[in-house]
Amino acid sequence: MERTIMEDETALDGAPYRNPSLGIDERLADLLGRMTLEEKVGQVMQLDARGGVEGPILERHVGSLLHASAERLQEARRLVEQTRLRIPLIIGDDCIHGHSFFEGATIFPVQLGMATTFDTEMARRIARAAAEEVSTTGIHWTFSPVLCIARDTRWGRVDETFGEDPYLIGEMGSAMVRGYQGGSAMEGELPRDAILATAKHFAGYSETQGGRDASEADLSHRKLRSWFLPPFERMAREGCASFMMGYQSIDGIPVTINDWLLNQVLRGEWGYSGTLVTDWDNVGRMVWEQKVEPDYTHAAAAAVKAGNDLIMNTPGFYEGALDALCQGLLSEEELDQAVSRVLALKFRLGLFEDPRLPDLERQRAVIGSEEHQELNLEAARESVVLLKNDGLLPLSGGDGSASGARRIAVVGPLADDAQTQLGDWAGGSGQCDWIDSQPRRMITTILDGLREQVPDGWQVDYAPGARILNLVDDPEGPTYPDGQPRPKIAAPAPADPELIAQAVEVAQRSDVVIAVVGDVIQLVGEGCSTATLELYGDQKDLLDALAATGKPMVVVLMSSKPLILPPSGLAAQAILWQPSPGMKGGQALAEIVLGLTGPSGRLPITFPRHAGQLPVYYNQVRGQHGNRYADLTQDPLWAFGEGLSYTTFSYGKPELDGPAQVGADDVLHLSLPVTNSGERPGTELVQLYVSDLVTSVSWAGRELKGFQRVDLEPGQTKRVVFDLPVSECTIVDASGDRVVEPGEFQALLGHSSRMDDLQSVTFTVR
Ligand code: BGC
Repeated sequence: MERTIMEDETALDGAPYRNPSLGIDERLADLLGRMTLEEKVGQVMQLDARGGVEGPILERHVGSLLHASAERLQEARRLVEQTRLRIPLIIGDDCIHGHSFFEGATIFPVQLGMATTFDTEMARRIARAAAEEVSTTGIHWTFSPVLCIARDTRWGRVDETFGEDPYLIGEMGSAMVRGYQGGSAMEGELPRDAILATAKHFAGYSETQGGRDASEADLSHRKLRSWFLPPFERMAREGCASFMMGYQSIDGIPVTINDWLLNQVLRGEWGYSGTLVTDWDNVGRMVWEQKVEPDYTHAAAAAVKAGNDLIMNTPGFYEGALDALCQGLLSEEELDQAVSRVLALKFRLGLFEDPRLPDLERQRAVIGSEEHQELNLEAARESVVLLKNDGLLPLSGGDGSASGARRIAVVGPLADDAQTQLGDWAGGSGQCDWIDSQPRRMITTILDGLREQVPDGWQVDYAPGARILNLVDDPEGPTYPDGQPRPKIAAPAPADPELIAQAVEVAQRSDVVIAVVGDVIQLVGEGCSTATLELYGDQKDLLDALAATGKPMVVVLMSSKPLILPPSGLAAQAILWQPSPGMKGGQALAEIVLGLTGPSGRLPITFPRHAGQLPVYYNQVRGQHGNRYADLTQDPLWAFGEGLSYTTFSYGKPELDGPAQVGADDVLHLSLPVTNSGERPGTELVQLYVSDLVTSVSWAGRELKGFQRVDLEPGQTKRVVFDLPVSECTIVDASGDRVVEPGEFQALLGHSSRMDDLQSVTFTVR
């Protein structure tokens, strides 16, 4: 049914849609009037460039590509020039903690590792640096940040989140969007060194059942409004350029066609005018996975009618949408709305005049620049969380002054695994086929870091000690029903007594053991949720054997998410957590262990004692019989907000500056003195929670409303001030409205979400 209308080249050059001095509406109307139905359908498609770009561009007329290597981008550019209307492409990719799939780009800690910093300015700077790098490579749009709330941590994508708290997620997400977009809001001009951001995955995708990826989320509208929507609402109102739809269905309706979410809430209540993109083959999944649409014709019509602008990677959408138009299931006007939004975005970005092509000179200046690597190191330092310290750390005074030579045994499968420490969505994580690793020279492993930084005369010995997994054939067979090869699956590596014996030997001749354990990419990501949180493979046996040597031990958990250490690991003198820390992770860790830097990371997510405690997030709704399981406490191992320093902090009494009776429009001024009561400089994260003491419907016992990183010299005291608008002290009532209910509240200030760490100030809302 394809129509080909040849345009006269010269006429095209003078066409109003190519004239930048005309307004967007005029250009749009002109262009729409020239497009065939096929071109319109293609314009709302975003296809995977890995399978080649000629078919998508010349046969399906796509408006957008993702996962395009530099070579493919060049080819795409040439092909667009061969198309009838020469409509520029918009190029997106997952540049989510740096320009993930570009060789030599700066790979930062994963989002969870950014969240441990609780440093919003750091998040903004990271996104800014990433945007500077990405924007030189012909990519206009990143699918970041993730605003999902991590609750069942068996889910494979916990590393991509900012953790479990909606307020923290909103703060960090907002900072990243500002960084990516260079401060530009939706309708504003996008600077040349900026990229479009994406709030994803809208909404509730992380509320999986049993941690199983993309399973139906059991969410009421009220529950969505209570916890899952607030970060998205903030991004919508602050002008995040696009929203990506989650994979899952809610109450039977896939998000892709969820009228309530997309139209009533996002477009309606929040007045959002940005671009809506589906997730990967969401439209196809409605047919072959969720089975709520009989075929691609119906699925395509439903997706467009629901208000999606770009359909990510559903090749069959093309035939489906054309068929739907033919059958009258979809009108051309409905399709035009989506097409217009995509084209308006391209006009606004100026892509018709300047398609923002790769710029080799800028690439040389910014990709992996010294400045970005320095920033990466700062981020990695701030992201290390010290969870336990019996006084073993730091190993030296930080000035190389330690007396006597020391020997350090660096042991463990992750102590020198450069690519794994980059985490998911990076060179070697498998999503893109043109790159399988990032340059080794840019990456400092923990072994590298220690070797480079130990004081003179110290010795560092290394033994991997254990393997984590083997890849084995999937018992379901080598291929899927459609003939596609099935990837191999992970099986725990069996105990290897020889590897363990080597590690024990190295440990025995050392003064201290640093054991680096955690997870690897096969246990992380989409389709890689884990049933448990235990250390995989031979790592437990390794820790048991190391503990049995009696040597003082530091355990470094380098993992995508909180994992469960065995008793031998928990008994170590010191425990640190480094969520997939990026290229500079090893240097940062070594500096901290050696006392060159102090640890300042805090937990944005709770560590359970056992996977059976899940969900274990701190802001649980009040009301249950008792507070423990018959066979286990419900008390987490380490709670949200916790994390130690090399110094100690003491808190004075919090005060309310102003009356304790306030109205809903007032702002509370709370303050408290915080003192560094130890002997080393340190950074404390002062946290503010609010508890509404009696609510009309059950509600969380307390919720984070503010935090501040405070640097303190030994003996120094600072008065930390929080301005808390009363309008933030809301709950979502039975009718789903967010309200401040009159009555008594407590502001809780202190070191972590644990009640024992918090002091209260009571106030009453009239
Ligand atoms: C993921 C998204 C990602 C997209 C494109 C999907 O599978 O869920 O987060 O942006 O793929 O790579």
